[in-house]
Parts: sequence; C-alpha cells; structure tokens
Amino acid sequence: MPYYLERIMKELCQTESTELPVLSYDFNTRHDWKVAEVEQLFVLPFSDLVFKAAEIHRQNHNPNAVQISTLLSIKTGSCPENCKYCPQSAHYNTGLEKSALMEISKILDAAKAAKEAGASRFCMGAAWRNLHDRDVKKICEIVDAVKKTGLETCMTLGMLTDSQSKKLKDAGLDYYNHNIDSSPEFYSEIISTRSFEDRLNTLKNVREAGLNVCSGGIVGMGEMREDRAKMLIVLANLPKHPESVPINMLVKVKGTPLEKVEDLDQFEFVRTIAVARIMMPKSVVRLSAGRENMNEQTQALCFLAGANSIFYGEKLLTTSNPEMERDRRLFEKLGIAGK
Ligand code: SF4
Repeated sequence: MPYYLERIMKELCQTESTELPVLSYDFNTRHDWKVAEVEQLFVLPFSDLVFKAAEIHRQNHNPNAVQISTLLSIKTGSCPENCKYCPQSAHYNTGLEKSALMEISKILDAAKAAKEAGASRFCMGAAWRNLHDRDVKKICEIVDAVKKTGLETCMTLGMLTDSQSKKLKDAGLDYYNHNIDSSPEFYSEIISTRSFEDRLNTLKNVREAGLNVCSGGIVGMGEMREDRAKMLIVLANLPKHPESVPINMLVKVKGTPLEKVEDLDQFEFVRTIAVARIMMPKSVVRLSAGRENMNEQTQALCFLAGANSIFYGEKLLTTSNPEMERDRRLFEKLGIAGK
C-alpha cells in the first residue's frame, strides 16, 4: 500500500467517529464514502490535503495537461425552473437577453471557432426544464453536425427520459451534463421546482444509455462545509463515478436571490477541488464557473489540487478575446498544455 494511503488511514482512524471506514482504502474503486471521513479530509492542514490530492492526481492523470471545453448557450433564458443562482430563470429579472434555439449553421460556426482556439470538447446548453420530444430531432442533428467537426460533444438540456437519452447516444453525443448542484439537504434551499431525486433519475437514464456523465455542483451558495462534503459523496457513491466533475464557484448575478450571499473563502474552494480529486481519482475535475473572479495563484492551486479541465465561455468565441489570452498566458507560466 502506498505510504500516503497508510498515513491517511492512520489519521482517519485517530478520530473517534464510529462512521469511519474499515480497512479497504482503495481510492480507485470506492463508492461507499461516509460524511465523517470526508469531513476529515476537509479539515486536514491545507498543505497535507493538497499534497494528497496532487499525489492521487499524478497517479491517474498527466499533472501538466488540462482539457479545454468551450460552452455555448444554444437557447438562452425563460427557463421555468427557479434555481436561485441562475440568471436564465424566468423567475428573476436579470436583464438577460433571451433567445430561441439557435440555428445549426450558427452553432457550427461557433464549434469551428472553438476548435480553432484549441478546444477539444464543445458543450451546448439550453435553458429548459427538460428536453421535449418535439426538439429531439433537431438536437440530434446538432450533435451529428458538431461531431463531424472532430470535436467531442456535450449537451445540457435539463431532465432527460431514458428513451431521449438513448436517442442522443445514437446521434453520437459523448457527454451529458446534469449537475446535482449541492447536498440533498441544501438543494431544497436553492431549487423548489424539481427535486433532487429528479436529478438522480436523469443521471441514471444518461448512464444507462451509455453516455459519459458530467455532473458536479456549485459552492459558495451559502451552504455549509458539510453540504459540500455531502454533495461530493452523492457523486462519488454513484455506481460509477462521473467521467467529468465540474466544480463551480457561485457567480453572483444581480437580480438573482443569491446576488448578496457571502463570499466563500477561496482556500475552501481549493479544498473542495482537492477532496473531489481524492474521492474520484479517475474523473476529470473541471474548474468551471467563477474562474474569472479567481487570481492566477488560486487557479494554480486548483490545478495542483487536481483540477484538470477548464471552460472557455461562449463569449470567448468572438475574435478579440482577452480572457482566452489570459488563460493562454497562465498555462504558459505554469507549463500546462491545453488539450
Ligand atoms: S434549470 Fe438550468 S437554465 Fe433553468 S434555471 Fe436552473 S440552472 Fe438555470
């Protein structure tokens, strides 16, 4: 057994909780995480936690490579859900410019621009509660067209039924994103128009259809550390770990109910990334929303702690793109190769 596993077992066994794991500590296969042990990871001295996460990261991934995804909103605003963080919800007035489902030709232009800019995956999001059967044909055509550019495809369209999931898989979709957002307990503080169980059902449909699962959550919404631990436990205790785990820092948008929520300390964000890496060693952990409010040092700590994917947002698809330039410079400084 590697020495760091022995050390972590010793540390965990020094606590008095009766919920601690017994003797098997195989990070690669575990799906039985308990709250007490995950909280024990969160409270480790920062350097110890990041060190453990970095070691596990190096055993499973190239530590100097970061996957790049580009996100395009293909249908914006007027969503009937009431997610308190989301400017696309019809429940809040955020001054967002709304748009109907984009034409395939425009989506293709954006996909080609993303590929030229170095993205390997093209993620498309529609602000829907769920995919309607009437839209399935067009969505499948979009998937097919984007696939032909050579990009991996990812969609996030709200809830999916099992038959819709299979149709998207048959159309060539690679990933489906459906975040669980937070812990089961805190979830109801944030969304009341659909249940946590609904989210898990969609994840089940997606997994059973053979699609890769992209699922993570948002931190900094006023939740407790215990909620962050429980959110990661739900993800890590799924029958198979999500291939992609986006960890978002809340972006506080004016007009949403969370616009004035207290900031989460950025070290706590790095800790969340590190714990996600330890619990789901093979998954790609994505440093997602909120990156624009992080300095380079915080982002570098996230990469050290195991984050190995980032988003270039849709506005970065325009020709003059300072944010993309900033990312390139950061990668250069850190010796990271985008892939
Ligand atoms: S379901 Fe998605 S688009 Fe709709 S309000 Fe929630 S986060 Fe926003």
